[in-house]
This record gives sequence, C-alpha cells and structure tokens, in this order.
Amino acid sequence: MQPMTTPEAPPKKKPSALTGRLHKLGLYCDADILLHLPLRYEDETQLTPIREAAPGTPVQVEGEVEHAEIVLRPRRQLVVKLRDDSGMLILRFLNFYPSIQKALESGKRVRAFGEVRSGFWGEEMIHPRIQGVTDSAELPQALTPVYPTTAGLVQSALRKLVVRALERANLNDLLPKELRASLKLPGWERSLRFLHQPPPNASLMALEDRSHPAWRRIKFEELLAQQISLRKAYMERRAHAASPLLAQGTLCGRLLEVLPFALTGAQARAVDEIARDLAQNYPMQRLLQGDVGSGKTIVAALAMLQAAENGMQAALMAPTEILAEQHYRKLDSWLRPLGLEVVWLSGSQKKRERKVMLEKLDAGDALLIVGTHALIEDSVALDKLGLAVVDEQHRFGVRQRLALREKVNGRLPHMLMMSATPIPRTLAMSYMADLDVSVLDELPPGRTPIVTKLVADTRRDQVIERIRDACREGRQAYWVCPLIEESEALQLQTAVDTYEVLATELAELKVGLVHGRLKPTEKAEVMDAFIRNETQVLVATTVIEVGVDVPNASLMVIEHAERFGLAQLHQLRGRVGRGAAASSCVLIYASPLSENGRARLKAIYETNDGFEIARRDLHLRGPGEFIGARQSGVPLLRYADLEMDIDLVESARQAADEMLARFPDAAEALHTRWYGGRSQLLRA
Ligand code: ADP
Ligand code: MG
Repeated sequence: MQPMTTPEAPPKKKPSALTGRLHKLGLYCDADILLHLPLRYEDETQLTPIREAAPGTPVQVEGEVEHAEIVLRPRRQLVVKLRDDSGMLILRFLNFYPSIQKALESGKRVRAFGEVRSGFWGEEMIHPRIQGVTDSAELPQALTPVYPTTAGLVQSALRKLVVRALERANLNDLLPKELRASLKLPGWERSLRFLHQPPPNASLMALEDRSHPAWRRIKFEELLAQQISLRKAYMERRAHAASPLLAQGTLCGRLLEVLPFALTGAQARAVDEIARDLAQNYPMQRLLQGDVGSGKTIVAALAMLQAAENGMQAALMAPTEILAEQHYRKLDSWLRPLGLEVVWLSGSQKKRERKVMLEKLDAGDALLIVGTHALIEDSVALDKLGLAVVDEQHRFGVRQRLALREKVNGRLPHMLMMSATPIPRTLAMSYMADLDVSVLDELPPGRTPIVTKLVADTRRDQVIERIRDACREGRQAYWVCPLIEESEALQLQTAVDTYEVLATELAELKVGLVHGRLKPTEKAEVMDAFIRNETQVLVATTVIEVGVDVPNASLMVIEHAERFGLAQLHQLRGRVGRGAAASSCVLIYASPLSENGRARLKAIYETNDGFEIARRDLHLRGPGEFIGARQSGVPLLRYADLEMDIDLVESARQAADEMLARFPDAAEALHTRWYGGRSQLLRA
C-alpha cells in the first residue's frame, strides 16, 4: 500500500500533528483516505442573489462589502454589510481572526456560504464561510464534500489529501467481472470519484440519503469485505485442533431420565446441533440464543455432560456471582443424584474453600466447573478443558471470553456462548457470520404470558396494593430501582428508601434488599431468603438483571422504567412468568418522557417477543451500541445500514463465498483495502 505523506511532514520525520489527527480518524494510508467518504455536500457551484436566499437552506452569495465594523454590545462581534445587485445581507462573526477582518474590509468582493436567517436588523448569516473573490475566480465545478473530521483538522486539508490519493492510489476494481455484471453496480473508481467529487448536476438528495448507485457500490464492497473477514475467521478456526467429544449418551441419558420435565422441541434441536459440533475435531463456536426463560441452562448442562462422558472438563462462566451461584445450584441439584460433583469457583469464596476446589481440579477428579470471572484467573488450571460455556456472553469482553480458551495447550476447547438478547437476523448475518447459531424459539409449556402495565409515578400507592394482593395469594414480587449513572451513592439511597417505604407499608410481609454494595455472601443470603420464600418482596438495584430464576415470583415492578434500555427491561420482565401463575410487570415512569424513552416504553408494552424487541432496540440504538462494539472486537460498518441495505447484505454474502472459492487473491486484496493494518482487530 502507498504510504501516506502529508503536506507538512515527509514520512520519515517524527509524526506531525496532522498525522496524529489523521490517525485519530483511522486514516493511515491513501487507501484509508479514499474510503473516508463525505458526510454531506455543499453546493458552491452556484450563486444565489441575496434577495432570493431562502431562510434555512445553505446558499452561496457573492457581493461587495459595504460596511464592516466591530460592535462591542451585547458582546464583541464583527458585523459586515454585504450587498449585491438584488439586496443587502448582514454577516455576523462572534469569533474572528484578523485575517477575516482583513478579507472583509469595505469595498472587498467576497463569497459567503451559509444559512440565511431573519435577525433583528434584517436577513443575516452567522459565521458564514468566506472566500475572497478576484475577477478571474470561477465557481467550482463539483459539489463540495464535507468530511467527518476531528479537532484541528480543517476540511480543506482533508480535501487536498483526497485529491492526492485519487491521483496516486490504486483504484483497480477488485470485483471480478462476472460478479460485477450480475450486480449491476457502477465501477469502483467511478463510484469513488463520484462521491468525492460529484458533478454539479448530481442529485444532492440521492447523495445525502446514500441511495445513489455509487453509494450502493461502496456499501456493497464494505459488506463484502466484512463477510470475507468473517469467513476467514471461520476457516481459521476450522484449521485448529480440538478434542472430539463423542456423544456417548451415558451421562446425558441419565440426566434426561431424572429431569422433572421433557425438553422442548427447540431445546432438543439445539442439543443435537451442539452434540454434533462437539464430536468434530475442530473447535465449536456456537451461540445459543433464546429469549429469557427459554431454558438455555439445561442445554448447557447436557453439553457439559457430553464433555464429561469423554473424560474432559467443562466450565460454565457467568457474569455475576448471583447468576453463577444459581447455575451452580441448579447443576448440582441435577447432577448430584447422578453421583457427579460440580466444582464452584468465585471471587468471594473463602480461601480455604477455594483451595479445596482447586485441589479437586488439579487431581482431575472434578470435570464440571461453574464460576464467575474467577475461572479465568491464572491460578486456575483447567488442563483438560474440553468445553467452555459462557453465559450472557455480551456481558464479557472479547478478551475475557477468549481467556478460557487459553487455559489449554495445543487443542482449543469447544465454545458455547449463550445470550438472552436475541440478535436480529441482519445483525447476526453481518456481524456474526463466523459463529454457528442455535435458537430456542419456543418457551417451555405452561407459561402464561406476562401482562405489562404502564403506571405514572403519581400512582405508586396502587402499585404497592398490587404487591400486597399478589403476596396474599402466596406469590412474590420484585421491585427494581434504577441505575443512577451520576452517583452510585444516590442509587443506593433510592434503593434503601424504597426498601423502608415498602417495609413500612407492607408490614405484614417480609421485604429483602439486594444491591451492588453488599458483600457477595450477603447478597447470596438475601437471594436465598427470597428463593425460599422467606422474604416475599425483593427490592433490588439492577444486580438482578440477568438470569435470576425464582418461579414463584409473579410481579415485577420497575421504577423509573424510562431510564432503562430496552434489552434490560425485557430481561427484567423475564424474571417473572417463570411459573404457571399469571404474571405481570408494572413499569412506573416519571413524566415528562423523552422521545426515546417513550419509544422504549411503547415497544416493551406492545410486545413480549424478544426478537421483535431486539429489532426495535437495534433501530433505536444502532448496531454499534447494540452489539457493544467497543468490546465485541468486530469491525463496525461505516456506510452500510443493516435496515436500509438488507438486499446488499444478502448479495455480499453470496459474493464472499464465490470470491473466496474462485478468486482468493482478489478477496485478499479487497480485505486489505478495507481493513489494511487494522486486521488484528478482527480476531474475535
Ligand atoms: P434461560 O434461557 O433464561 O437461561 P433457564 O435455563 O433459567 O432459562 O430456564 C428457565 C426455567 O425453565 C427454569 O426453571 C428451568 O428449569 C425451566 N425449564 C427449562 N426447560 C424446561 C422445559 N423443557 N420444560 C419445563 N421447564 C423448563
Ligand atoms: Mg439463563
């Protein structure tokens, strides 16, 4: 790739400030610069007579400075009267350099680009862009691109770099002819030139909403590069060795016999898919996704037993103590009767207990391990790890997820990731093509749908009465207090206050309180009391968000529901509706609602379907936030939009297969063009 030189700094010298700023934008070479595409365009190809300049639309006017002065009130500013044949306009600058003052001296001829608005003294432009005009100054022939930039990097510098890159970078079309023909998209060079330097007659609208064929070509290629990168990761994985774990059916069969329920069809399918993967000699990388309550734990348990059947270890890692402990208990209750021991590891464990557990691991007696992040600490040896299960995988960083893999020498363990945040198909297709996915799209039978209610916070008293009613019928209730981002102390205070109010109002009931400041053992005690129905009401901060399973709880109250994310609300709601009793979720909100807050409440009110909620969440937040891009390690799409460009996603998938099979060199070149030196980011 052509190294990038900048006007100020030849490449050998210490990196200049400019280089630093370019790096900040991810621009390292000419190819990067070419793919740094305009955010929008300004039309400087035409002049508008001052009289015809409509307020609110950017225009360019040209005229002569009639008068310029620095006014001191209400604050220091430069006020310029600009006149052309049709009228007069005021240009106003609150910040200005002497150079601007000089350019705008009386009698000078200038062009001003900006939006006109009606001011107190008549029509005016605030901080227009100014250009001095000599007699020979022609109007530009192309729309002026406006690039995403960073502090200290002006548009004109970026434009110059783009022009140079267009002159000297490789603009070859990397798409093989056959593919190009069937796609009916314009060529690469043409598309790039068009977007960087659109002709004056180009439709500003098609450029700005990115529906123009040139944009589609770029977006297609971006999606193609992404697909290629994901396929490569997929193929690399298959090149690694893993211990095949054959389904013997011995332990699994026995568990299924003692289980108090039969698997749902969806569970049985997932179990089969996993069993087949585990038997391969390359590492499984499978995502098990299923809505809250769809029964992922038993699927994980069966996979773990398949490892044990082969004399290999299986570890299940969960993001919180509460959740890990709950998994431990569940597994222990299922497996102890079969004579199998489950080892438990957590950060809060007493030293002595931990030592005993570690010894069991060292001796190779224990094959089944459940724990928190404590599992990935160096002191924990898992030499015979055949399967790693990560629950609520999106709560872990990439590094944490992969750390389990590094526990073994040579052979990689199989990986099963679980997530209750369903990933919309488009997103799964574009960001997770290197994962195999099993979906639990069926809830265990006998669940009654949860009724969701929206209640203004002025009616809290009624909500308290509902709790009383539910508990009188032998049920239990959660009351969740929101995360207060500004202050953990304040958050704690709200939870404590709520606890006190409920304990007083509901004197006949026992109320518990759990929050993040409690020691893990204290937390466990509170949870225990709730599980055993010794407390009927549990006031909690969001620590209970994931995975807690108390089937007797039938009422979920969420306070300041408008502050929660959609996925979080759905997760919390999923804590009830786990038994046969009719359950409800009461969302208490405070007015006024933001537009986004209202949209979230509307979505959660309207549907119980996790996939539909995920779709709307994706729509509201965008893919970056949705998948937690910062920790996911996958390259985010810069131009393609998964909703708008779904047809391109489909064709990019097919094209990626074809290119890798028939034109591997072109596939490689295309990958480099888009990801270049950043490719190590892609190893997820
Ligand atoms: P999640 O997918 O949210 O992790 P869990 O694994 O915690 O769900 O399962 C939710 C509840 O449903 C648990 O109490 C579990 O024992 C129960 N369960 C799981 N599968 C079935 C089934 N096939 N039939 C009946 N109950 C089931
Ligand atoms: Mg779970």
